[in-house]
Amino acid sequence: MAATIPSSTRWLDLSRADLEALCDALRAPRVHARTLIRNTHRLLREDPWDDRSLPSALVEEIRARFGFEPPVVRETRHSEVDGAVKLLVALPRPSSEPERAADAEAVLIPEAARVTLCVSSQIGCAQGCVFCHTGRMGLTRNLAAGEIVAQVLAANRWLAAEPGWLAARGFDPTQRVTNVVFMGMGEPLDNADAVADAIAILTDPAGASVPLRRITVSTAGHLDGLERLLARWPRVPIALSLHATEQHARAGLMPITERFPLDRVRDRLACLSQDQAQPIFVQYTLFAGVNDSPEDAAALAAWCAALPAAKVNLIPFNPFPGSGLRAPDDPTVAAFRDALHRAGLRVMRRHSKGPDIAAACGQLAFR
Ligand code: SF4
Repeated sequence: MAATIPSSTRWLDLSRADLEALCDALRAPRVHARTLIRNTHRLLREDPWDDRSLPSALVEEIRARFGFEPPVVRETRHSEVDGAVKLLVALPRPSSEPERAADAEAVLIPEAARVTLCVSSQIGCAQGCVFCHTGRMGLTRNLAAGEIVAQVLAANRWLAAEPGWLAARGFDPTQRVTNVVFMGMGEPLDNADAVADAIAILTDPAGASVPLRRITVSTAGHLDGLERLLARWPRVPIALSLHATEQHARAGLMPITERFPLDRVRDRLACLSQDQAQPIFVQYTLFAGVNDSPEDAAALAAWCAALPAAKVNLIPFNPFPGSGLRAPDDPTVAAFRDALHRAGLRVMRRHSKGPDIAAACGQLAFR
């Protein structure tokens, strides 16, 4: 295995299984894989290989093959509205591909006993949803698993360096990221293999140790990617960005609907909900005059009837210049929510995070 790791592999791309294979190839005990994961992702060491318990031959081989610079937060923007912090993370790059240097945006969201990190899975996005600032960028490239993991590592390092920020929010100074949502830049299921690899690293109990049930993968309805992800992680929570329940209307907002029709998406999620008895999160952004009428609420309730465990999150649109779309007023949002309640749906009104720092869903675009 050691000889088969591509030269473009970053240290952070490696899961426990990869490191165990490396140990096998170098005739070192597999227990060292655990130490390496712990030093890197739990103890947040600057040099995870500087450890006397590791055999020197293993360390020499690793140093010869991999570089490691801890990912750093280059810039932060703090929301004065809800405490969200947008992090611009300088991604580690493989020494063989220096031209691939890039930054990724992630958003730290403190809430009650949780510290949620919203991570990016791509630079830009190919899906072109009309209401989405990221979609207007087009796709620059997919992120590798290690570049997704780097966002969590950088956020944990930032938290470790900011005990005052944690204390001001009632957290212990040792608090780290508890939840990860794939709702930042990109369509995660357009990059499903890297997302699945990243989940393997993030859930490692010796490392960042984020439980699978606290990871949510959001999708615009990319069914091919969903199958790839579920083949590896059948119980990972899924959130569907729905926003419209009629095929033609949704295709006008979200072109991916032409490729993966809404009926097929609903049927697949209904199967998943029944097989795994797991909730499906339905994200519904409200646009004034577009999808916020009483008829739209009734149609949404009918659409969700096939998903008995659906949890609907209503999110009033957070406008950005040039979007051409508006948010509904509060009474309209309340009436929409009440109609869903009366129809028996579990529904939460959510607020876009960090509306003053362009950290809201669909606004991550290096502003
Ligand atoms: S809403 Fe999601 S899928 Fe659509 S363009 Fe934006 S990032 Fe891509």
